[in-house]
Amino acid sequence: MPKLKGSCLCGKVTFEVVNAFDKMFLCSCDQCRQITGSAFASNLFIAAEAFNWLAGSDDVVTYQMPGRDISKSFCRVCGSGVPWSNGDGTKMIVPAGGLQGEPEVADKFRMFVAEQPSWSSNLDQVAAHRGFPP
Ligand SMILES: [Zn+2]
Ligand SMILES: [Zn+2]
Repeated sequence: MPKLKGSCLCGKVTFEVVNAFDKMFLCSCDQCRQITGSAFASNLFIAAEAFNWLAGSDDVVTYQMPGRDISKSFCRVCGSGVPWSNGDGTKMIVPAGGLQGEPEVADKFRMFVAEQPSWSSNLDQVAAHRGFPP
């Protein structure tokens, strides 16, 4: 099975994962918006045994929201979101933006679109530029 590599922005944390993801969730819930600082979280799910750290796992910090099944892992140096384990350790949740390459995904879902803020709705109507706007 081909693998994909991924990393944080500073490059301290690197990992590889089999490129055959079960699911991708593009989640616009309030918690994902806050935890990413962006319009939605883009998370891929895969069996834990299909994933391994290559370097920097000691630099990974995990925040667990008290009383909720919500967590986030990030590089302590640069703050990039990095993969984390689900509650029972059977799955890894991989933020898609950290991957180098195109993930192969069986099923994709947008969810909690009812909580999507207006500034991240109807983005096809916002002027798009290949680089900086002129
Ligand atoms: Zn980093
Ligand atoms: Zn969410």
